[in-house]
Amino acid sequence: MIQNYVTYLKFLDEKFTRFFNKQKPFIFCKKGCAKCCKNAQFPYSEIEVEYLLLGAWQLKPEIKKIVADNLARKNKKKNKYEGEKFRYDCPFLINNECAVYDYRGIVCRSFGLMTVGANEKIQVPFCCFQGLNYSNVIDYETKKVSQEKYKALGVEEEPSAFNINYEFLTDTDFERGFNFTFGERKPLIDWMIDKAQQYKI
Ligand code: SF4
Ligand code: SF4
Repeated sequence: MIQNYVTYLKFLDEKFTRFFNKQKPFIFCKKGCAKCCKNAQFPYSEIEVEYLLLGAWQLKPEIKKIVADNLARKNKKKNKYEGEKFRYDCPFLINNECAVYDYRGIVCRSFGLMTVGANEKIQVPFCCFQGLNYSNVIDYETKKVSQEKYKALGVEEEPSAFNINYEFLTDTDFERGFNFTFGERKPLIDWMIDKAQQYKI
């Protein structure tokens, strides 16, 4: 089943690469920028976490130790947030780089583009308000694309929003199409606390 999920990931990666290329003039992602790996909840389904842990299992012992220490610190902090939505820095983030990059989940691959959901609501990535993605075309008051700013850039590509929110990308249609199941979904931290022992991380 995991192989079918990997095929789905390849399908998604091709799509995301195309979308990111189309949005190049508005994208400021670069190696070492890891704001999107911090202070969030990171929704993961069971199959995503299984695949992520395949990568985690192959890490060098010293890197595993850093991940385990990160996890222990976050777990301790999480206990103080009982019943609240806990936001945390991803335990796999080491020196602002992902230790399991090739095995990362769907939300980690899609983040950074402007999205549109079933309700037609357009959402810009939070890093836009920190001078990053789409910050060169967004009107900060309306949180919408400013035609003035866009025209001033003089680029051919248009800023677009994509239907790539997590709920859509983990829809049952994809399970049927690629023949696998996502399984239960919960924040990455909760999965890791449950599975860390099993995978000796
Ligand atoms: S999505 Fe935003 S925060 Fe994440 S790497 Fe790209 S620019 Fe940085
Ligand atoms: S798994 Fe990697 S890409 Fe995803 S949030 Fe963690 S560090 Fe970032």
